[in-house]
Amino acid sequence: MVKFLSKFDCDEVFDASPWNFNGDFILMAKCEANRAPSSYQLDSVGIWVQLSNLPVEYLTIEVAKSIASTVGKPVNLEPDVKKWCKFARIKVQMSIYQPLIKSVPYTLLKWEEITVPLAYERLPRFCSLCGLLGHELERCKIRFDIMGKIEESKSPEFRKRLQDLLKINYSEELRGGSVIQSPSKERQNSLNVEKQCADSLSEDTEGCNTNHTIADPVPNENSVQDEGHNSHSIAVEKITPAVFP
Ligand SMILES: [Zn+2]
Repeated sequence: MVKFLSKFDCDEVFDASPWNFNGDFILMAKCEANRAPSSYQLDSVGIWVQLSNLPVEYLTIEVAKSIASTVGKPVNLEPDVKKWCKFARIKVQMSIYQPLIKSVPYTLLKWEEITVPLAYERLPRFCSLCGLLGHELERCKIRFDIMGKIEESKSPEFRKRLQDLLKINYSEELRGGSVIQSPSKERQNSLNVEKQCADSLSEDTEGCNTNHTIADPVPNENSVQDEGHNSHSIAVEKITPAVFP
């Protein structure tokens, strides 16, 4: 459990997710009022998904949400559509128990079907055989099962078919390059004020007090209660090292 002094800081950390640690995702959920910590599932992660191969007129939030809903639930975070060029980019809440989805078919208005390859930003370790997060090929239970059957089988033909199943299905191409996030408007204002303070302090030792910028973003406590959230806290959990189907 992590407790923040302000809702602003809590939102900044949450919006900047996903966070990785030691090759795995850190799963997070905002704490709600009157809810026991043990009741949180922590079974999904907010992840940025890149959608490629879309015609330029299809680079819209509606199309991106429609395609991304195959992966998970689109997060209510306004994407910067003006920067979309090679790919659309949208954040979704994705289950950690589902295999990664490599591509999605999409039908254009003239009934032509195209393939939209997907890539995931800040993707931690994943299995190249089964596509699940949380383990790599060397620790894949499906691989162990297939290898066991190969050893048991006396039919060369059946063994060949089993060996074909061990081919890599999920490549490193699923890793989307990181896109540098611009600071939120409030954070940008805070940074600007801090810079002005630093500038004036360097010119005049009686300049403004930099602590002032810390107090500025503190939200209205009533609005937090109205949402039914204790949004100053985040429950966190490292992803289970080995997640098997
Ligand atoms: Zn696996």
